[in-house]
Amino acid sequence: MAETATSTPGTKAQHYSFFQGVERNFDKASSFTRFEKGILEQIKACNSILQLKFPVRIGEKIEVIEAYRVQHSHHKLPCKGGIRYSMDVNQDEVMALASLMTYKCAIVNVPFGGAKGGIKINPKNYTPFELEKITRRYASELVKKNFIGPGIDVPAPDYGTGAREMSWIADTYASLKPGEVDALGCVTGKPITQGGVRGRTEATGLGVYYGVREVCNTKEDMKKLGLELGIEGKKVIVQGLGNVGFHAAKFFFDNGAIIVGLAEYEGGIYSEKGIDIYKVVEHRKATGSILDFPGVTNIKNSADTLEQECDILIPAALENVINAGNAARIKAKIIGEGANGPLTPDADEILHKKGAIVVPDMYLNAGGVTVSYFEWLKNLSHVRFGRMDKRFSENQNSLILQTVEGLTGKRANDTERTMILHGPDEADLVYSGLEDTMIGSYHEIRDILNSRDISDMRTAAFVCAIDKVGVSYEELGIFP
Ligand code: GLU
Repeated sequence: MAETATSTPGTKAQHYSFFQGVERNFDKASSFTRFEKGILEQIKACNSILQLKFPVRIGEKIEVIEAYRVQHSHHKLPCKGGIRYSMDVNQDEVMALASLMTYKCAIVNVPFGGAKGGIKINPKNYTPFELEKITRRYASELVKKNFIGPGIDVPAPDYGTGAREMSWIADTYASLKPGEVDALGCVTGKPITQGGVRGRTEATGLGVYYGVREVCNTKEDMKKLGLELGIEGKKVIVQGLGNVGFHAAKFFFDNGAIIVGLAEYEGGIYSEKGIDIYKVVEHRKATGSILDFPGVTNIKNSADTLEQECDILIPAALENVINAGNAARIKAKIIGEGANGPLTPDADEILHKKGAIVVPDMYLNAGGVTVSYFEWLKNLSHVRFGRMDKRFSENQNSLILQTVEGLTGKRANDTERTMILHGPDEADLVYSGLEDTMIGSYHEIRDILNSRDISDMRTAAFVCAIDKVGVSYEELGIFP
């Protein structure tokens, strides 16, 4: 499955480009930081931009393919960020997304600089064989230009790409660098059997869930919004059932939230009583649509779904879906940006005035890159997480349980026994690392928001990122 259901925050209605939009947000936030102008300019700039044109034989013809890799920041290495396949790919978009990766990594304390890649193709127009040829050629161009490697730049899936493409990239890299022992660390988001890590597929959606849950578990925030503490019973609408939206919806559903609305290309569905996310997916597989799922009201115009009654709205599909045209009608008190750029700046302002909390994409969808970091660590250490200590922990737990039972004269029941004895396996450790990251970063952003008199979470998230990257540049000094 492709990594995100997101696309470019197209800026057609605005008079500045996507990259300029990111720069505007940066400038707004930088006034809350202490860095000199030169440092701020260096943080903002894209360090290396690679524009490629390469030929690929497709059927009888030779096609010249346009592609990019942008390394936004080298303050930490390797650089990190996905590769997207889309007809909307252009240099400005890749630059914007690369810079967002720098800030995203800084916010969740992932020690990488930001990067992004893109190939301007519609993957639906090619056979798997042709896609493999394009991907392998792109990867070999990156090798030739020194734009890929476990210590240089590590791509990952993004819109239109997934584990399959990452596997082709890893294989191309390993073939061109024989004997490089850390070769598998040249790309993340690989299948488990090719050095991937358990939990990477659902990581972005799970991160969205952990982030929003933390908002709901924060007393002051809930009081401000007039909502009860906790995720249980909260009414949620999710837009987009791609990798991010589906997994986010699944984790909300599994943990007691009520999925009242879902929106997809074909329309939306709404039910106050709640919708079983698993059954909707089955229904969609069988009928090709979420519409007419038993017990729901169909919403013809998909976008209208966002305006229905709910506590939490998760736009996890397209860019700019909440804008000046519909923001005033959004009823959700918490808007969690699963996609990149689902809110226009106008919408941001309107929702802010309405008193809603907008949880920004730069923080909320950082679960993917966080777990990519874990995959990279796994590749460099050449051992599955939990392999060395799982059994040891289980033996220790058993000993503790026996001692407690001996001292108290009481016996734990079977469920308690299973839970207490269980030693952590790879998925447990990845989930735990991601949960801790999302909780910790939320409070870092919140502390900045409260201590510097900033009114919105997006600006606070930018300040959080600028502070960290700025300190890094200051400490590194200027060479020579
Ligand atoms: N493409 C994802 C993102 O935009 C993941 C990047 C990565 O894992 O490096 O965050």
